[in-house]
Amino acid sequence: MEKETVKETVSKNFIEQIIEKDLAEGKYEEICTRFPPEPNGYLHIGHAKSILLNYGLAKKYKGKFNLRFDDTNPTKEKTEFVDSIKADVKWLGADWEDRLYFASDYFDQMYEAAVKLIKKGKAFVCDLSPEEIREYRGTLTEPGKESPYRNRSVEENLELFEKMRNGEFPDGSHVLRAKIDMASPNINMRDPIIYRVAHMTHHNTGDKWCIYPMYDFAHPIEDAIEGVTHSICTLEFEDHRPLYDWVVKELEYPHPPKQIEFAKLYLTNVVTGKRYIKKLVEDGTVDGWDDPRLVSIAALRRRGFTPESIQKFVELCGVSKANSSVDYAMLEYCIREDLKMKAPRMMAVLDPVKLVIDNYPEGEIEYLEVPNNMENPELGVRQVPFGRELYIEREDFMEEPVKKYRRLYPGNEVRLMNAYFVTCTGCEKDENGNITAIHCTYDPASKGGNSPDGRKVKGTIHWVCASAAVKAQCRLYENIVDEEKGVYNKEDGSLNVNPNSLTVVEAYVEPELGKTEAYDRYQFVRNGFFCGDCHDTKPGAPVFNRIVSLKSSFKLPEK
Ligand code: ATP
Ligand code: MG
Repeated sequence: MEKETVKETVSKNFIEQIIEKDLAEGKYEEICTRFPPEPNGYLHIGHAKSILLNYGLAKKYKGKFNLRFDDTNPTKEKTEFVDSIKADVKWLGADWEDRLYFASDYFDQMYEAAVKLIKKGKAFVCDLSPEEIREYRGTLTEPGKESPYRNRSVEENLELFEKMRNGEFPDGSHVLRAKIDMASPNINMRDPIIYRVAHMTHHNTGDKWCIYPMYDFAHPIEDAIEGVTHSICTLEFEDHRPLYDWVVKELEYPHPPKQIEFAKLYLTNVVTGKRYIKKLVEDGTVDGWDDPRLVSIAALRRRGFTPESIQKFVELCGVSKANSSVDYAMLEYCIREDLKMKAPRMMAVLDPVKLVIDNYPEGEIEYLEVPNNMENPELGVRQVPFGRELYIEREDFMEEPVKKYRRLYPGNEVRLMNAYFVTCTGCEKDENGNITAIHCTYDPASKGGNSPDGRKVKGTIHWVCASAAVKAQCRLYENIVDEEKGVYNKEDGSLNVNPNSLTVVEAYVEPELGKTEAYDRYQFVRNGFFCGDCHDTKPGAPVFNRIVSLKSSFKLPEK
């Protein structure tokens, strides 16, 4: 699958080809795209694809990109979501400039459009009940039946539609339907409902309206009003395109917009369905919509992903007409690539045990100069304290080493990263046999971790100075579900949550990391990339989320 997508990003994708043809033929002078979220939840990685695709096209072809809240449905929309969506789109780097729109601002124009259709004899008020409408609609193999109200006069329709608007009918009693073709093989064209009665308060228009337009009628009007040229949506709307075109044609817009569908982005081993996320939030499995194990944009940001890494990811995914799922490892690859040169490389010990250097002067602390990123000298250097007692990772010592073990064991010499060569002399244990401290001696001539006489050591381990170290909470993550084990439980269809999706450890980190603020990103050598948690990091008491480990099984496919 990846092979194919990379090929597509190298050549022009099919949407770019359509746009270039339209521009070359003079169909449009300038293109305009839009991102039209329904404000009924938080945006996720799939929406990021749509945002960056639409914004990227507008930028590439020097056109415009609009952000439009598709808030025609009064039941679910919340101002909270409007704010979070704006913040997420902005964070991703998509700039709508001064073009922030709300579909509900067009309710008057939509009403006028409906009146126009009635006057053209292309719409009628139908008194059938919702059940009857369903019965009359027919099936995929059988044509539908015409409503007995289909041939009402224009005058009667206008009068009834006005009554609908004036609140004279209860919910569900009357609808306005487009008059198209009850025998159409496309069910969407069988006199679809375009307006319904709903006595509900709208978050923007309050109680002004008690009739609301249906999506398939409203969306093309919104696009046409804004001068959108290429209305890009996902594949499930393919069968709705004839209706989109019908609305645009019957309303006689001078510059009709065009709907183009592409495949949704799916990621392996993550949960994107709003329903499932809501349940995880409500039952406390995750700590909110931005829990770093989720792939809402807020969660990715909190985990430590950068907008650049998501842009790169979306680019690598490409645009296609075929539904497929992308390996989560590809997203991890993108953040590693992005942070490799940008993030300072620090020392943090996640599973600490003491290392005592018996021949190092007691009470002495020296400062070693350490480059912040060996591969990027621009990040400068820092001073790291070193002393007689250090913390190292528990797994960096083995009393009885296994074959090929190159780290500390009695008699073996290793390099303490950026510091000295040390030779292990033994360890201390408590009454239960747990190792409480490891002992070694150091070679003062090996300062900086350089060999004094050409002798080689095979292992290099990281450390932090015990007396200067800062305590830090580190949160280590695994994917919340595992596709190989099954995402859903067979019995009840509930999510099969990975019990190890979160591990919290108390780590010791370099004193420099005590200054960590929300969203500061580091590489902890050998342990991965980490980010200061935006809710829980306090001055001097950092809390880190592991964005991604350093090891990767993902290989970018060859071009
Ligand atoms: P969900 O089903 O996840 O709630 P939605 O389609 O209902 O998503 P909307 O707010 O209606 O969410 O969608 C806004 C835009 O984002 C639409 O143009 C939609 O096609 C697009 N979009 C939604 N999910 C994806 C996805 N997984 N990949 C790409 N684009 C998506
Ligand atoms: Mg939706």
